[in-house]
Amino acid sequence: MDDKLMLMIPGPTPVPEQALLALAKHPIGHRSGEFSKVMAEVTEGLKWLHQTQNDVLVLTASGTGALEAGIINFLSPGDRVLCGANGKFGERWVEVCTAYGIQVETISAPWGQALDPEAFRLQLEADTAKEIKAVIITHSETSTGVVNDLETINRHVKAHGQALIIVDAVTSLGAMNVPVDAWDLDVVGSGSQKGYMIPPGLGFVSVSPKAWEAYKTAKCPRYYLDLGKYRKDAAKNSTPYTTPVNLVIALQTTLRMMREEGLEQIFARHSRHRAATRAAIKALNLGLLADDASAAYSITAVQPPEGLDAEKIRSVLKKQFSIVMAGGQDHLKGKIFRIGHLGFVSDRDILTAISALEATLRELGYEGAVPGAGVAAAVRVLAS
Ligand SMILES: *Cc1c(COP(=O)(O)O)cnc(C)c1O
Repeated sequence: MDDKLMLMIPGPTPVPEQALLALAKHPIGHRSGEFSKVMAEVTEGLKWLHQTQNDVLVLTASGTGALEAGIINFLSPGDRVLCGANGKFGERWVEVCTAYGIQVETISAPWGQALDPEAFRLQLEADTAKEIKAVIITHSETSTGVVNDLETINRHVKAHGQALIIVDAVTSLGAMNVPVDAWDLDVVGSGSQKGYMIPPGLGFVSVSPKAWEAYKTAKCPRYYLDLGKYRKDAAKNSTPYTTPVNLVIALQTTLRMMREEGLEQIFARHSRHRAATRAAIKALNLGLLADDASAAYSITAVQPPEGLDAEKIRSVLKKQFSIVMAGGQDHLKGKIFRIGHLGFVSDRDILTAISALEATLRELGYEGAVPGAGVAAAVRVLAS
């Protein structure tokens, strides 16, 4: 029984058949008129998804490349920035800044907890000389399944007046509300293998007029990731370098699917899957790393029962049921496993994952819950 693999990880996420079929086609020329039409529609769709009139640029890169572009195009070595770090990805943006000689001050929280917006307010208010050039926030911290309160932190950034807000929205965009214009988010980065429902390979960056102003004087070295080139070519529905045309055509199909479903419905579906997953985990008497108030829409991090290694659970799930869940990263390896419910995920997938998890726990000798309790709890949420 090969070919039944089910991905319940927060990227790469499952890909719908329409998109897979688009990927199987012969590539077309990236400078052809035919492809320009695709780019025009995709760009429109990206703006719709970002809820913005800003430029949304398409890069051949994973999410990290998109965020690196979002940092280095608007800052100079020596610039002062604040970066939130409460997980693997927040810490990565600190490393990117450091690599370019940007003077980064880290505002951290323990892995599994949300960043404290007050810590940002205090730092920003203390900066009367207006030296802070940017605040970098990971909206949905995938390594822990925690959502940071971007709306509140951004309000403090706006009160500061000078600093740009640079957002990693890789697992929030397409799962929860990220209204780029309503919140006036300057730079928002994301990647194709997450909420976009296509394979890895494309990165996206939205850029506000204020960020383009900063671009004019930003001095970080850049070439392939110079967003000015992407903007210039985007005006002609093109890209500066050869773009993976098949991925873009696949994206055209998934953006159409998303528009058909509707933004509110997409957010509601992710919210329902989050609720069902969390209810099931609680009913199984397992631990949840994130509390209810800051739980991510796209991923749930679960603490295994006492004495059971999370990697063991993952390995049985994979071998027995061909279901892949994600492990913990860095110091959380073995201590958590993460259930992705991002993108092309239906109620059926949640029920399948929970029932397989129950069977796996039983197989591993866990008797801390009534058989079926997790599925029953998930069904109650999904049916309500
Ligand atoms: C997946 C992810 C990224 C990007 O990772 P890549 O492997 O470079 O695509 C960045 N931030 C978050 C929060 C992510 O989940």
